[in-house]
Amino acid sequence: DHSPALELLVDDGEVVGARGVSRQTGERWTVRAGAVVIATGGCAFLSKALGCNVLTGDGGLLAAEVGAELSGMEFSNAYGLGPAFASVTKSAFYRFASFYYEDGSPIDSAGSARGRSVIAKTLLTQPVYCKLDRAPEDIRPLLRAAQPNFFLPFDRRGIDPLTQRFQVTLRLEGTVRGTGGIRIVDENCASSVPGLYAAGDAATRELICGGFTGGGSHNAAWAMSSGSWAGEAAAGHALRGSAVRREGRGAGTASLIADGARELDPQAVITGVQDEVLPYDKNLFRTQRGMRESLSKLDALWGELQTRPRQDAFSVIRGREAAAMVATARWMYRTASERKETRGMHKHMDHPGLDPNQQRRLLTGGLDQVWVRPERELAQPAQFVAANA
Ligand SMILES: Cc1cc2nc3c(=O)[nH]c(=O)nc-3n(C[C@H](O)[C@H](O)[C@H](O)COP(=O)(O)OP(=O)(O)OC[C@H]3O[C@@H](n4cnc5c(N)ncnc54)[C@H](O)[C@@H]3O)c2cc1C
Repeated sequence: DHSPALELLVDDGEVVGARGVSRQTGERWTVRAGAVVIATGGCAFLSKALGCNVLTGDGGLLAAEVGAELSGMEFSNAYGLGPAFASVTKSAFYRFASFYYEDGSPIDSAGSARGRSVIAKTLLTQPVYCKLDRAPEDIRPLLRAAQPNFFLPFDRRGIDPLTQRFQVTLRLEGTVRGTGGIRIVDENCASSVPGLYAAGDAATRELICGGFTGGGSHNAAWAMSSGSWAGEAAAGHALRGSAVRREGRGAGTASLIADGARELDPQAVITGVQDEVLPYDKNLFRTQRGMRESLSKLDALWGELQTRPRQDAFSVIRGREAAAMVATARWMYRTASERKETRGMHKHMDHPGLDPNQQRRLLTGGLDQVWVRPERELAQPAQFVAANA
């Protein structure tokens, strides 16, 4: 993250390296390689959730620029629960929480696992408070040892979350604890483009958890497993290829190509995309009309990205982050508009029920023109493994 990749190198339809820049020195780097694994994490839209403000979906943009597909992009709207005054969205202990209105009366049916929508709906009009007062006495001393950083922001404010009420919020974690990402086409975590592999949050997690991830060990397990499979396969691909490193050409477009004298303002674009993806009434509770309106604004922001930012390292990196966020948001809403049902973390207010006829994955791709299509086969994980054994 101190030397982010800005674009991939391609030669004859194959990925042969990457280019980037050092944040500290501004020095540009180029790596020519026999294969590339994208492991740049997910996209949390700079919402300030814990550990997420370096995760702007860059890998999806890099991949799409060489023609790779994405999958599960409608399941990209995970929101993490945490104190309103801090970034810590570690939510395991909220299973012990009671939720309250400002006047101290309890909020019926509000809960961390089941009942998060009730919290979100309440937050649309008023603050929500919480106390971890349902934690059993015997485990209270263990909580601090289990997750010390959960308590840090409370200690700083002199709040005991087990006995005192505090204000909570929901922060967008997007694809970090969502499931959408670069499509994996085989057991080697290959993308649909030769020489390009994907791992962790950058890759779709649908193969192991369908339309809902949330918290839990499967996220890290997927990152580690897919990382080792992708690494091994990429090394194999490189060994099979030519020993001579190919030059390749930079595949990056958005915010990297020049367009006249206009200069890109990355921060304006970032604010513009956040306005469309952070609000619960746009992204958590989705409607066809709302998504259409957001897409028209996001498409306009995509148009802005055909200009270049100032050429210092910070502006170039910010420009690419802005581009990746807009791209992710457009893939997310275009795909969500095609899933006319409610499934996993995709809540469609116009179609509140689960539709068995839509039990298939949706693939997405494209930059200027975003396309969405159903995956042909209804591959369940077991069949997927058997078919490739
Ligand atoms: C608050 C919180 C709590 C969580 N708790 C759990 C848990 O208890 N159990 C669990 O299994 N999972 C948990 N997760 C999810 C888990 O953290 C992720 O699934 C996991 O970290 C993904 O690993 P990764 O290597 O794919 O991505 P990351 O760990 O996000 O790493 C991606 C890296 O890529 C870098 N990067 C980004 N863009 C570029 C670029 N252009 N060029 C180069 N580098 C780039 C980033 O800076 C980052 O260092 C939690 C997530 C959050 C937000």
